[in-house]
Amino acid sequence: MPAQAHFESTYERAVQLEQILSNTVPELIKFVNAAEKERSQHIAGGSPFANGGGHTSLVDPLCGSRESLEKTLSSNGFLALNEEGAGAQGLQRLLDSLLRYSVNTSAPGFMDKLYAAPLPPGIAAELVLGVLNTNLHVFQVSPVLSLVEKHMTKAMAKIFGLNGPRSGGVSVQGGSASNMTSIVVARNTLFPETKVEGNGAVKGQLLLYTSAHGHYSIEKAAQALGFGSSSVIAVPVDECGRMLASELERLVVEAEHQGKVPFYVNATAGSTVLGSFDPFENIHKIAREHNLWFHVDAAWGGGFAFAAKPELKGQLRGVGLADSVATNPHKMLGVPVTCSFLLAKDLKQFKEANTLKAGYLFHDDDETAQSRDISNGASKNSDDETPGDDWNEPWDLADLTLQCGRRGDSLKFFFCWKYYGTSGYSTMVDVAYMNACHMSTLVDRESNLTPVLSKGRAPDCLQVCFYFTPAGQFVHELFTESGRINVQEGGVDQTTEKSQRARLGKLNSQVTSGIAKALIPRGFMIDFAPALEGQEDRGSFFRVVVNISTVRETVERLIQEVVTVGTSLVADLKTNAGPVGLQR
Ligand SMILES: *Cc1c(COP(=O)(O)O)cnc(C)c1O
Repeated sequence: MPAQAHFESTYERAVQLEQILSNTVPELIKFVNAAEKERSQHIAGGSPFANGGGHTSLVDPLCGSRESLEKTLSSNGFLALNEEGAGAQGLQRLLDSLLRYSVNTSAPGFMDKLYAAPLPPGIAAELVLGVLNTNLHVFQVSPVLSLVEKHMTKAMAKIFGLNGPRSGGVSVQGGSASNMTSIVVARNTLFPETKVEGNGAVKGQLLLYTSAHGHYSIEKAAQALGFGSSSVIAVPVDECGRMLASELERLVVEAEHQGKVPFYVNATAGSTVLGSFDPFENIHKIAREHNLWFHVDAAWGGGFAFAAKPELKGQLRGVGLADSVATNPHKMLGVPVTCSFLLAKDLKQFKEANTLKAGYLFHDDDETAQSRDISNGASKNSDDETPGDDWNEPWDLADLTLQCGRRGDSLKFFFCWKYYGTSGYSTMVDVAYMNACHMSTLVDRESNLTPVLSKGRAPDCLQVCFYFTPAGQFVHELFTESGRINVQEGGVDQTTEKSQRARLGKLNSQVTSGIAKALIPRGFMIDFAPALEGQEDRGSFFRVVVNISTVRETVERLIQEVVTVGTSLVADLKTNAGPVGLQR
C-alpha cells in the first residue's frame, strides 16, 4: 500500500461504527418507509399506474436488465475495489445504489416467494448479532445465545406437539439444510454402522420417500449424501397436491419385496407451490409399521402452528408424531432470512448421530465422551425414557449438527416473538389467511381468471394459484373447423395430441410469464409455477403468496392489475397472431 493512501485504522471501531450507522440508519428507514407509503396508497385506493405513471418502491426498472444494471454499477464506481479506502462517505454513496436497485421485499407487491417483509424486531436483532459476532459452536463463547436457541427450539418443538422429555432442536442454515440434516440423523440412528462404513454397510438400496410435490432439497440431499436421486421415490399426490398415503404404503411394500430398504419418509406441511398439507397421521402409521424415520418438512406451512383459527392449526394435525420437523421462521413468520430450525422428538438421537471427537473444539467431561462412542446404537422409540443417567443435556450445540461455526439466527425470531407476543403472531397468521381467502374468492369471481384447483375451494395455505383466461378461455387452445377439441377425449391421435399439448402449454406459459414481467414496473412481483401433471396444455400458472404484512386492498389491486396487463398483452398477441389458433 502506498504510504500516502488513505487508511482507516481498525483501532477506532466504536467511532467508525457510530459514523457508519448514523449515516446508514436514516437511509434504511426511508427505504422501509417508501414501502409503507405504497401500502397506504393501496389502502387509500386510486390507481397510480392507470396512466402509465406512478412510482413503486418495489424495484427500479433498470433491474429488468442485468447488463444495464452491471453497466450502471460499474460506471458509477459502485463495484470498484480501490487501493484507497473510501471511508464512511464512500459507504454512504454505495448505499444509495444498493437500495435503489435492490428489490424491496417490504413493498406490498412483493408476493413472489415464500418470504417477504422482514419484521423490524428481527432487523434489529440482525444488527445485534453483527455486533456480538457470536459463534454458536460451543457454550463457552455463546452462553446467552445458546440458551436462546435451546429455549426457542424447545418452544417450537412443543408448539408442534413434540412433547417428549428430550424434545428440542437446533438452528440450521435453512430449510434445505434442515431436511438434509434430518436424513443424516435418520440414517445414523437406524443404521449406526453407516457412520464409519458408509451407505454400503446396509445390504440393499436405502430408499427415501417424499411426495411428488415435495421440495427438491430432499433429492439434492440424497445426491450429496451418496444415496443418489434414484433412491428418492416420488409418491403420487391427489388432485390437491397431498401425498396419497395408500400409494406410499404400496411403494414401500413393493420395494421391501424387492429387497430394498425404505428408511425415511418426508411429509410436507405447506408445499412450495400449492401449499398442500400431507395426511400426517396416516403417513406416521405407515412409517411406524415399516420402521421408517418420519420427517415433516414444515419449512413453509409450519407458521400455521401459531394460528388461532382451528382449521389452520388443524392442517398440522399429526405433525407431533414426527421424529423430526423442519421449519423456517424466515418464511411465513417474517423473520429476516435466514432462520430455520430442525426440531427433534429426541435430541439424543441428534447428538449420537452427529457427534464426532474434536478435542480442540469440544472439551467434554469423560461421561459425555462415552456417549460419543458410535457403537452406542440409539434406540428409536425413546419417548418413554426419561432424561436421566444416560443423558447429559448437550450445550455445545454444534455437536448436534453438520456445522461447526453457526449463526445465532434464533435471536431474530426471539426478538419478534417477544415484541409481538404469541397472540400477535396468531393474529398475523390468521389475517394473512383471511386475505388469501379473499384473493381466492376474487379469482373465482373474475371472469378472466381461472383457479388452478376447483372454484370455491379455500386455499390450503397462503398461496393463491390461478391462470389468466380471458373470457374464461385459455389464450391458446386447440380448435378445429368444428370447434374446440376436447383433448382428454382423444379427438386427435395420441402422439399428435401430446406434442400439440406441449406446444400449447409453451405458448400459454409465455402468456403467464409475460404478464408476470409486465407487472413488475407496476409494483407487483409474483411468481409462476409449471403446469401440473396432466394439465400440460394449460402451461404455467401464477402463484401469488400472501404474507403477514399483506392488506386486503393489495390483493384487490393485484387482481385488477393482472387483468389489465393480461388483456393488453393478449390484444398485442392478436395483432401478431401466433402459430396456434388464438381465436375461434
Ligand atoms: C423453502 C422450502 C424449503 C427450503 O428452505 P430454504 O431455507 O430455502 O433452504 C424446503 N421445503 C419447503 C416446503 C420449502 O417451501
